[in-house]
Amino acid sequence: HSAELLAMRQRSFARPQKNYYSNPPQIERGWKEHMFDVCGRAYLDMVNNVTILGHGHPRLARAVGRQWSLLNTNSRFHYAAVAEFSNRLAELAPEGLDTVFLVNSGSEANDLALRLAWAYAGARNIVSLLEAYHGWTVASDAVSTSIADNPRALETRPDWVHPVTAPNTYRGPFRGKDSTADYVGAVAKTLQHIDDSGTGLAGFICETVYGNAGGIPLPPGYLQQVYGMVRERGGVCIADEVQVGYGRLGHYFWGFEEQGVVPDIITVAKGMGNGQPLGTVITRREVADALEQEGYFFSSAGGSPVSCVVGMTVLDIMRDERLQENARETGDHLKARLEALGQRFPLVGTVHGMGLYLGLEFVRDRETLEPATEETAGICDRLLDLGVIMQPTGDHLNVLKIKPPLCLSRESADFFADMLEKVLSEGW
Ligand code: PMP
Repeated sequence: HSAELLAMRQRSFARPQKNYYSNPPQIERGWKEHMFDVCGRAYLDMVNNVTILGHGHPRLARAVGRQWSLLNTNSRFHYAAVAEFSNRLAELAPEGLDTVFLVNSGSEANDLALRLAWAYAGARNIVSLLEAYHGWTVASDAVSTSIADNPRALETRPDWVHPVTAPNTYRGPFRGKDSTADYVGAVAKTLQHIDDSGTGLAGFICETVYGNAGGIPLPPGYLQQVYGMVRERGGVCIADEVQVGYGRLGHYFWGFEEQGVVPDIITVAKGMGNGQPLGTVITRREVADALEQEGYFFSSAGGSPVSCVVGMTVLDIMRDERLQENARETGDHLKARLEALGQRFPLVGTVHGMGLYLGLEFVRDRETLEPATEETAGICDRLLDLGVIMQPTGDHLNVLKIKPPLCLSRESADFFADMLEKVLSEGW
C-alpha cells in the first residue's frame, strides 16, 4: 500500500520537491518530537525545524479550531488578533524595530525584506554570503548561493547580487576564530567594488548564526563591523532569523544577539507558526513606510485571524512550557554528548552551534577537512533503520542537521546520541 502511494505521488507531485529518503516510511501522525508510521513505528524527528512545539500539540489544535470556526479573513479588515499579534512581535524585537508585516513563509519574508531595502536605500545592490539559503521566490532565490540546495546557484546570479566569502571559522579560507579581520576584509572589497560602480548599496543579508553551513557562529565582532560598513553607505542590514531565531539557540531568543548587534530588518518564519504557514518582517517604521512611496504590499492570508491566533498560541506555549530554556539545557547536554563522540571517532570533525541548533560535521581527515559526504548519507540511512530522522546539510552535505522540536526531552537527546554512537561503532 505504502509503495503504491509513493508511486502515486511520483506520478503527479512535482519532482523538484524530493522525499528525504529513497524508500521513506509512510508517516501518519506526530506527537511531540516523534512521528509514527502507518504500522505504528516511532521515529525520533531530529530535523524538523518548523514544529518547534512538537507535533500534534492539542492546545494549538484547539486554538486553531476555535478561530477557524469563528472567523478567517485578511488584514484589510479590523479584528483583534492582528493588532494583538503585531504588538507582541514588536515587543519581542529590540527597541526601535516597532513595525510588523505578516506574510506566509520565510521566502516571502526575505523577498519583502529585499524590497524594503531597495525602497528605503533607493539602490539595488545586495551583498549576501556564499553557502546561503534564503528561499525560493525570485528575489530570495537570487541571494541564495548554496550549491547544496541548487547546484547551479552560482551560475545564475542577477547583477545586483554580490556574494561574499562565507565567514566559516571551521573550513573557510581564513579558518579560525581570530579570522574576523580577514572575513570583514572580504566584505570591504566587495563594498569597494560597489562604491566604484557608483550604483549604490541597498543592503546586506545573512543568517546571524550560519545555519545553512551547519550552524556555525560567525567570527566574534564580524557583524558589528560589517553592519557598520553597510550603514555608512546608506544600506540596511537584514537578519534572516527564519531558522536561527525564535528561541532555538536556547542561550538567545534571536541569533543576532550572539553577535551583539541590532539589525534594521528581521525576517522570521518556520517555528513561529509551528507548521501553519506564517512569516513576518519586523523593521523600523521609516523603513516600512518607504514601501508606501515606492511599492505595494498585500498578502491575502498573511496576518489572517487564524495565522495570528496560531502565532500568539505558539508564543504562549513556548513561555508556559519553557521551551527556550529546554533548548538551552537539552541542547547543551546533547552538544556535550556529541563532542564526546568526537573523542572516539575521527570521522567527527567538529560539532557546530548551540541550543537545539547543532551541526555535526563529518570529515575524512581532520587536517585537510576533506568532507565525508558519502559517509554522512550512509549514516543518515542507518539512523533511519534505528528510528531516527536525520538529514545532511552544508554545501558538501557532510553535516548532520540537528534541529529538532524545542520540546526534545533529555531521554530523546540521549537516544539520538546512543543511536549515533552505535552507527559510528559499525565503522565508516
Ligand atoms: N531562510 C532560511 C535561513 C531558511 O532556512 C529557509 C527555509 N529552509 C528560508 C529562508 C525559506 O523559508 P520558507 O521555506 O518558509 O519559504
